[in-house]
Amino acid sequence: GVSRSVTSKTGTGTSTRPGMITGGRKRPATSAAGSAVSNAATSWQPSVLTDTKNKISRLKNIDTKLANLILNEVMVDGTAVTWDDIAGLTFAKQALKEIVILPALRPELFTGLRAPAKGVLLFGPPGTGKTMLAKAVSQESKATFFSISASSLTSKFVGESEKLVRTLFAIARELQPSVIFIDEIDSILTERSENEHEASRRLKTEFLLQFDGAGSNSDDRVLVMGATNRPQELDEAARRRFVKRIYIPLPEPETRRGLLTKLLSEQDYQISASEMQRLVQQTEGYSGSDLTALAKDAALGPLRSLGETLLDTPVDQVRPIQYRDFVQALQTIRPSVSPQSLQAFEEWNREYGAGI
Ligand code: ADP
Repeated sequence: GVSRSVTSKTGTGTSTRPGMITGGRKRPATSAAGSAVSNAATSWQPSVLTDTKNKISRLKNIDTKLANLILNEVMVDGTAVTWDDIAGLTFAKQALKEIVILPALRPELFTGLRAPAKGVLLFGPPGTGKTMLAKAVSQESKATFFSISASSLTSKFVGESEKLVRTLFAIARELQPSVIFIDEIDSILTERSENEHEASRRLKTEFLLQFDGAGSNSDDRVLVMGATNRPQELDEAARRRFVKRIYIPLPEPETRRGLLTKLLSEQDYQISASEMQRLVQQTEGYSGSDLTALAKDAALGPLRSLGETLLDTPVDQVRPIQYRDFVQALQTIRPSVSPQSLQAFEEWNREYGAGI
């Protein structure tokens, strides 16, 4: 695909990079593991942008202002997340390859009865890699990637959200194959209630209409990937559209070990196998993003212990990260997911999940 620049308009991409603490070691521009939460597009190659704009300008009945907004805020350039950046989740990766990647790479094999699913739901606790998976999917299937959170649809684009959804799908169809990733999908597809606002009802209707392919043909390669921490809130109409529903659980012990080791590999560290084993046990219940926060905090330990001398200690004299730094960090960085909510996910998975 498109080569990616490290600079992000919002800056969120750089601030979350684990390698930032020393400011010394530069990470390759293609590694985006730390920036997966960003919605904003990174810098585009001018030629790609012109090409995209030309394509979009051929679309009829399109609001230019909204189209530009989508280009700048929703369409994500060079989403450089690969399967290997994602720790664990072997089953989810396997399922996504079968459901999404193969049909994208060999569309001629997947027609008629074999037509690929148009909707995939990733559900589970927050911070477990759902956004990363969606990015990897779009990267591996060479698709244009659009990413938006449903809450920003309803808050940031008040009054325009229906039109935005319509424009988004039109652009995605024009630039297909496309993946539209919608985080917090539950907030637009909740069970209809008595006191539902007229505006959110209209948004939901428009979304379902577009999802079902209004004004498109059945060969369109637009995949909607929804993510939610609250699958219980989805109603039957929503469940039906997300034919594949994949549970993304908290990391297993081996995954925690892999993730911690990978995070640490960017710095000097001195942690024995038995200490690592203890750490793996002590982080039971931690999500991928909790573990990332923990490792970042522990990585600051050696700097904290420099105290006043921080300002004039040469980089090569900073001590390696040790187990005791993690012991400290474990005090402040606590797991963000409650055991009760885990139980609810597992129940929902038994009832509606894809059985993996
Ligand atoms: P979700 O979409 O499930 O809420 P994200 O995919 O946005 O979570 O993950 C948030 C951050 O947590 C990522 O940017 C990454 O740093 C870390 N993370 C979470 N899960 C994993 C994982 N399985 N492998 C590697 N990093 C992870």
